Amino acid sequence: MIYNINAMSRVIVRCSSYDYEELRPLVFELLGLLDGQRINKNSRVLIKPNFLAPAPPEKAMLTHPLIIRAVAEYALEKGARVQVSDSPAMGTFDRIIKESGIQQALNGLEVELKEFQDSVRVDIGPPFHTIEMARDALNADVVINLPKLKTHTQMLLTLGVKNLFGCIVGLRKPEWHFRTGIDRDMFARLLVKVFQSVNPSITILDGILAMEGDGPGKSGTPRHLGIIMASSDAIAIDITVCKMLGIHPDVLLTNKASRESNPVETSVEIEGALPVLHDFIFPEMIPLVFGPERLHGYMRRHLVQKPVSDGNLCRMCGECWSYCPANAIRPEKKNLRFDYDKCIRCYCCIEVCPHGALRAKEPLIGRLVRRIYRK
Ligand code: SF4
Ligand code: SF4
Repeated sequence: MIYNINAMSRVIVRCSSYDYEELRPLVFELLGLLDGQRINKNSRVLIKPNFLAPAPPEKAMLTHPLIIRAVAEYALEKGARVQVSDSPAMGTFDRIIKESGIQQALNGLEVELKEFQDSVRVDIGPPFHTIEMARDALNADVVINLPKLKTHTQMLLTLGVKNLFGCIVGLRKPEWHFRTGIDRDMFARLLVKVFQSVNPSITILDGILAMEGDGPGKSGTPRHLGIIMASSDAIAIDITVCKMLGIHPDVLLTNKASRESNPVETSVEIEGALPVLHDFIFPEMIPLVFGPERLHGYMRRHLVQKPVSDGNLCRMCGECWSYCPANAIRPEKKNLRFDYDKCIRCYCCIEVCPHGALRAKEPLIGRLVRRIYRK
């Protein structure tokens, strides 16, 4: 199989729990194997976890605080200056680090824990060209990428490559969703370009308590896998996860986009025992648009899945309508009103809802047509 990965792509797979007596030496071992002495007293190390939204570790929404702590301790022991940053999709950075236990986990360590704020303009090439990305991520000597293994209703999974999308600061994220529209392939190409620009030196995937079902937010279901993967190549990790979950790597569109952008014939070398799961629950990914092009407008309105809210769970907190890149949600008395002509089906609202009150629903006609289509 041909993928855009380095000839040296090696993925180390290990079993672990969050017991720090076990976790710390394992993380040190992984970093020792992969850092190539890039982490030293002259280096500025940026740790980029997944800080999606405020949530405790048992919800499996964020990179576990103890993995972040172990990585920070390793870099500090090497004499590096260490920063831990992300630009969360929702909620304040302060709330996230408190509710997730991250602030407490990093207590006593000389680590700068702060939100990405300043951006710099980078030309990532066609078709996107100039994009603004977190200055701190681009200026670091070593970026250590710490994704969480989670499902994602828009992109199937969020793993090593997708985690770097957090290097696009604040409201620039929904803006890019809007610009790439409902085209998942296009969005995957953007994710790969962002990943290549940040170019993390090491990726450690937290798959100990992973998420299945309708992730990546509160609608997903935590699932214990007990797995950690590490590599100098995030794409190799993403391919390995696909293998573990029993799907072809190209089903994850960032893998496909990476292969198409610059194919290099190579293979992923897996070190360690990789389990194969036959019962992992993926979110339902259905075609957003199908059938003749001249009917797409009609189909989009009546046949394509769309976000809907559950009035019993919605607390009218406003996160979804503040975040919606297409301005397609507004509050109306005690309900939400969606403008489905404006809605680009990016599903960011589902991702950011802190109460699991939104889901993607396919209209009845769409379900019937798709059933006929499959026959
Ligand atoms: S759907 Fe979710 S994010 Fe939107 S207002 Fe309701 S609770 Fe808040
Ligand atoms: S309503 Fe939801 S799915 Fe539609 S554009 Fe807004 S955030 Fe995206």
